[in-house]
Amino acid sequence: MNLDKLSIAVIGAGIGGLAAARALSLHGADVTVFEQAPEIAEVGAGLQISPNGFAVLRALGLADVLRAQAVRARAVSLRDYRGGEVLRLDLGVLDSDDYYFIHRADLIEVLASAARDAGVRIRLLQKTSEIECGPRPVVRMANGSSLDADLIIGADGLHSVARRTLNGTAAPFFTRQVAWRATIPNLWNRGPEAHVHMGPMRHVVSYPLRGGSLINLVAVQERAAWTEESWSQRDDPMALRAAFADFGSEVGRMLEAIEEVHLWGLFRHPVSPVWQRDGLAILGDAAHPTLPFMAQGASMALEDGWVLADALSGAGTLDEGLAQYQARREGRVRRVVEAASRNAWKYHLSFPPLRWAAHTALRAGGVVAPTRMMRQFDWLYAHDVTAAAG
Ligand SMILES: Cc1cc2nc3c(=O)[nH]c(=O)nc-3n(C[C@H](O)[C@H](O)[C@H](O)COP(=O)(O)OP(=O)(O)OC[C@H]3O[C@@H](n4cnc5c(N)ncnc54)[C@H](O)[C@@H]3O)c2cc1C
Repeated sequence: MNLDKLSIAVIGAGIGGLAAARALSLHGADVTVFEQAPEIAEVGAGLQISPNGFAVLRALGLADVLRAQAVRARAVSLRDYRGGEVLRLDLGVLDSDDYYFIHRADLIEVLASAARDAGVRIRLLQKTSEIECGPRPVVRMANGSSLDADLIIGADGLHSVARRTLNGTAAPFFTRQVAWRATIPNLWNRGPEAHVHMGPMRHVVSYPLRGGSLINLVAVQERAAWTEESWSQRDDPMALRAAFADFGSEVGRMLEAIEEVHLWGLFRHPVSPVWQRDGLAILGDAAHPTLPFMAQGASMALEDGWVLADALSGAGTLDEGLAQYQARREGRVRRVVEAASRNAWKYHLSFPPLRWAAHTALRAGGVVAPTRMMRQFDWLYAHDVTAAAG
C-alpha cells in the first residue's frame, strides 16, 4: 500500500509512538504525534535495549547516535543479597553484543529528533480523552479540540485511552510487588554490567547510565500494601532503606546515596485481544503492558512500531495491513509478557534451603554451561523484526 500522504495521528510521544512515527514518515506518510505532556522532558530513569530492540533503532538509522548516548552492557552478575556473586552471565556470548543501558529521557530525545528530521510534527499539551473508530476515525482532546485522520495509532502507554476504545476496561490485578526506582551518582566507578542482588521476597537491579556517571537502581519487594501503578509517584528514600536494611554493604551504600525515589505498584494486565479495528491500532504498553522482569517494555514497543509501518506499507489495503500487524506481533509479545510474569519468583526465594538449592543450581549451570544459559534467550534477543521474515 502506498503510504504517501496517508494522514496518521499518533497518540503519545513515548518510545513506541516516536519510533512508529519515524518509520511511517520514512514510508511517505503524513504523521503528527499528539502528546499530553507540556514538554519532552527529563522523566523516567534507566531502560534496557536488548539486541532485538537495537535492530529496530539500527534500521531507523539511529545506531550511531544511540551508541553515543548509551552504555554498552557487558555482563549480568547475579548476587546473593548479602553480597557474593552467584553467577556471571557474559552478554558477549549472544550473537550480537548490541545490548544497552540508556536513560529513558535520552532515548526519547534521540527518537523525537529523528522523528522531526523525517518530517513528523510533534504537538505537546494534547491529552486525548476519547477516540471514535470508523471510516474516518476521530480523536477528541481534553482541551475541547478534535481532529480526524486516515489512521489513529494509540501509543499512549500504560493507562491507554485507545486500549479502552478497542477492548473496554479490563481491570489489572496487583501482583503484591512494588518497585522503587532511582538514579544515583556512580561513586564506585562501577563498570558496564548489571548487578542483581537476590534476597528473600526482594531483589535489587543496578546498572550504569550516561557514560557511567550514574547508576540506575530498581528495588522490588513483595508486599501486601497496595501502591498506585504510576511513573510519577514519589516515596521517602527512608522507606526504601528500611525495606532493604538487611541487604549487604554494596546495596546499603547505593541506598544511602539516594536523594529522590519513585515507587510504583506492579500490576499484571492481560495482553489486549483487539489491537486494531476501523482505523485505530494500538502498540507498546497500550496493547500489552508487561512486568519489568524481562526488561523488554521498550524493545517490544520499538518492534511493534517497526512492524506496524512495515505491514502497512506491504499490504493492499489499510485493513489488511492492520490485521497483518497484529498477526505478526501477538504470539511473540504474549511469550515475552508470560516469561516476565514467571520470572520474579526466581529472584525472591524466601525459604533458605530453597534459595541455597537454587543458587547452587545457578552456580553449577554457570560453571557447566554459561553459554547455554544465555543462549536460552536466543528466541528473544536474536530475533530481528527488520529482517525479511521479521
Ligand atoms: C513518565 C514515564 C516514565 C517512565 N520511566 C520508566 C523507567 O524509568 N524505566 C522503565 O523501564 N520504563 C519507564 N517508563 C515506561 C516505558 O517507557 C514503557 O514501558 C516502554 O518503553 C513502552 O513504551 P510505550 O511507547 O508503549 O509507552 P511510554 O513510553 O510509556 O509512552 C506513552 C506516552 O503516551 C503519553 N500519553 C499517555 N496518555 C496520553 C493521552 N491520553 N494523550 C496523549 N498522550 C498520552 C505519555 O505521556 C507518554 O509520553 C516510563 C514511562 C513514562 C510515561
